[in-house]
Amino acid sequence: MPQHPHLAFDTMAVHGAREDLAGLGAHVPPIDLSSTAPLPDVESGGDSYENLAGGGVLEQGHSPVYQRLWNPTVARFEEALAGLERAEQSVAYASGMAALSAVLLAMVQSGKRHVVGVRPLYGGTDHVLATNLLGTHVSWAKADGVGAAITRDTGLVVIESPGNPTLELVDIADVVRQAGDVPVLVDNTFATPVLQRPLELGARLVMHSATKYLGGHGDVLAGIVATDAEWAARLRGVRALTGGILHPLSAYLAHRGLQTLPIRVRAQQENAMAVAAWLAEQPQVKNVYYPGAPGCDPAGLVGRQMSGPGSILAFDMGDYARAAHVAEHVELITHAVSLGGVDSLIQHPASLTHRPVAPEARPVPGVLRLSVGLEDPADLIADLERAMRG
Ligand SMILES: *Cc1c(COP(=O)(O)O)cnc(C)c1O
Repeated sequence: MPQHPHLAFDTMAVHGAREDLAGLGAHVPPIDLSSTAPLPDVESGGDSYENLAGGGVLEQGHSPVYQRLWNPTVARFEEALAGLERAEQSVAYASGMAALSAVLLAMVQSGKRHVVGVRPLYGGTDHVLATNLLGTHVSWAKADGVGAAITRDTGLVVIESPGNPTLELVDIADVVRQAGDVPVLVDNTFATPVLQRPLELGARLVMHSATKYLGGHGDVLAGIVATDAEWAARLRGVRALTGGILHPLSAYLAHRGLQTLPIRVRAQQENAMAVAAWLAEQPQVKNVYYPGAPGCDPAGLVGRQMSGPGSILAFDMGDYARAAHVAEHVELITHAVSLGGVDSLIQHPASLTHRPVAPEARPVPGVLRLSVGLEDPADLIADLERAMRG
């Protein structure tokens, strides 16, 4: 539970899950790397094991037993992110895909196997659903057809807003309404809790690839799910059984990343607005996909569901050769997958992040996705201009 729900968002980002540090005589969180922990006696050790392996939270004065079950550094990051998403709890994993897999396994464990997915989704999410790898089966629906796609076996609705890579927005509250009792998972990686808090709109689960904005510096792989106490217990149970807990060093970095999250997200968004406006004026650019660009937000969700358009955009160079040329000729911007860091990255989704997606749902070959960082936008624009010309 967030310890200071009365504090403003930016204050919680800086101070969340750090309330006990002064008492420890520390200014930054200690990193606990212990793979195992001393047990006070056999009986209480056994009780702790049973509690944690079953998805419980560490009780005061009890042993964490074993790192796969509980780690204090990971628990700090979880508490801090839960505060920002206004969730009761959150559960952290070694990657975003490990987080999603745990949700799907928890659903299967509860006796349901059917997932309704609204495309576009991150390529890995699309792939794990389309292959039925974890014993689930998927129906793809349009955002307004979620209700009709639900069956008695449906255990989850999966949506992303903005969607990866072409930034389509989904009306989260409307999907929640259509889903009724079926839990809705929103991948909030692109928006972050700075711009959008899906739990306040009725979603049951919010997931992040914390590799992206939460970490924010391209140096940590992490995933996290923010939810209510009941789902969090199920997710910790799955995590204890299948592994996939976040490493404490990564948890430290992700937790540190939260401190600057609001300021990074807003500054990157300013830069993205400038780059999107420039791209829209270039005759070689056939289309700009950005929630803040004209025509990209027909339902008026920016300002209502999402407080701003964010800092990921995509644009269509018309064909594969021109798109590849730009990706290969930028110099300041890095040609690489991933997004949400302080430096700008560009990539060709149809070849890379969305390669496993079925052809009918794959982005067109001219599309490039650009994650706008903290550089001066004039330098980013000059780099793109050179790459388009040269
Ligand atoms: C990167 C990403 C993921 C997967 O996260 P990993 O940390 O790479 O496993 C999931 N969803 C979105 C929207 C992403 O951008």
